[in-house]
Amino acid sequence: MRDKIIRTDDEWRALLTPAQFRVLRRAGTDAPFAGELTDVFEPGVYRCAGCSSELFSSDTKFHSGCGWPSFGEPIEPDAVTEHRDATFGRVRTEVRCAVCEGHLGHVFDDGPAPTHLRYCINSAAIAFEPRG
Ligand code: FE
Repeated sequence: MRDKIIRTDDEWRALLTPAQFRVLRRAGTDAPFAGELTDVFEPGVYRCAGCSSELFSSDTKFHSGCGWPSFGEPIEPDAVTEHRDATFGRVRTEVRCAVCEGHLGHVFDDGPAPTHLRYCINSAAIAFEPRG
């Protein structure tokens, strides 16, 4: 279990851009194909835009065509938590940062081998750190 970072909405508002706040703290969604990181494939690490925890590696990023950054798995199994999301008339699995509980996106079971998962993550929720 990772130590949590808990902040009030006012504290988050002071730390995040409006787009980051809307996604991370209000479970918003980037418009498809609009996020900055969808087509980034350089080697590196993707950190939480809220708390800087390492969330995903470029090693499992793939081109899904869905319009959002897509990963086969988190960088560590306990880097994210998964939650049932029944909004918008369907059941999906929401993915949150395990440390700050920021909303990241959703995970679907239509990804490529080996995991066959697609972590569909909003660009506004993550920050890319190139390797080296
Ligand atoms: Fe976080």
